[in-house]
Amino acid sequence: MPFELAKRLKVLPPYLFAELDRRKQEKIEQGVDVIDLGVGDPDLPTPEPIVEALREAVRDPSTHKYPSYVGMREFRQAVANWYKRRFDVDLNPDTEVITLIGSKEGIAHFPLAFVQEGDVVLYPDPSYPVYKIGTIFAGGEPYPVALKEENDFLPDLGSIPQEVVDRAKIIWINYPNNPTSADATEDFYRDLIRWAKKHNIIVASDNAYSEIYTGDKKPISILQIEGAKEVAIEFHSLSKTYNMTGWRIGMAVGSEELVRALGKVKTNIDSGQFNAVQRAGIVALNLPESELDKLRAIYRERRQVMTSALRSLELKPYESEVTFYIWTKVPDGYTSAEFVGRLIDEAGIVCTPGNGFGDAGEGYFRISLTVPTERLKEAASRIEKLKL
Ligand SMILES: *Cc1c(COP(=O)(O)O)cnc(C)c1O
Repeated sequence: MPFELAKRLKVLPPYLFAELDRRKQEKIEQGVDVIDLGVGDPDLPTPEPIVEALREAVRDPSTHKYPSYVGMREFRQAVANWYKRRFDVDLNPDTEVITLIGSKEGIAHFPLAFVQEGDVVLYPDPSYPVYKIGTIFAGGEPYPVALKEENDFLPDLGSIPQEVVDRAKIIWINYPNNPTSADATEDFYRDLIRWAKKHNIIVASDNAYSEIYTGDKKPISILQIEGAKEVAIEFHSLSKTYNMTGWRIGMAVGSEELVRALGKVKTNIDSGQFNAVQRAGIVALNLPESELDKLRAIYRERRQVMTSALRSLELKPYESEVTFYIWTKVPDGYTSAEFVGRLIDEAGIVCTPGNGFGDAGEGYFRISLTVPTERLKEAASRIEKLKL
């Protein structure tokens, strides 16, 4: 039946990777051993104590009922304790924490609470696509703010036209950043909070990668900044920290007013996350730091292997010790798609072209360090043999 799609679906940006997917498929059919460095999904398994906690919880019939809309009290308390330990941020588990069915769910739904026709939502370009799409679904107007390498991939708030600032309701930020692997400074967050208060704009921070660091400097939370709780909500997730992308568990924390509004939307859409998954999430949040240090050591080695391969081609990967991504300019004379196409055709390596994350990503490509280290070494040696 030719049913007409709603406008909100028809206006979605086109899928940019169809041609690359086709070329990848073609290589696989030719028998090429394709190495996929395109996906941002950890290859390592969820730590065993978390898996065991789920097994146990699922045997308890009390978990089989509808969960609470806002999440189990014990999970919200574990989140508050974790924020205190990790960031020295105090959160009231009853009013300043809500459980999410993965942070993507919260990010996509949040604009429904505040955005209506004519409202602008500012989002970083390049970025995770959900900020923009959640805005479109809520009937708002997404406005990209370019992240430029000369600004260390921080948005230049002064570059946003006054007329746009006046209509802006929310600004999305994401540090440690996907896809650029940049991190934000305390000064940046402080200026942002001051600016947001002045213009009455909500700051929505996506901190999914706060635990994926390989240097001495730990990423911070925007909630560490004085006054942040008046205007900011932070979205966080167990997905990347604990290799739990399939489990769908995350949280939103911060301003009581903003958390409550998101809760109001969710109450009317979903019925919360499975209590057994939340119980396993509590075990995750209490895992000893030594478990995570093992993961960090693996990412550190992988980053070194791939960075030196890229440098052998005289490419200059953006220097970073956060996230599991490498963000690199393509060589002169190539578009992102052209260069990524060459990597597939001549090395059997799949990467993501930067323009897939927004127009300002053109001229870059992203490598994910989420394949076993041996495979990554193989990819590195193929790259080192390329002639540009
Ligand atoms: C992976 C990722 C998330 C986490 O998504 P979940 O829904 O919690 O699995 C959020 N934001 C960004 C930028 C990501 O890359």
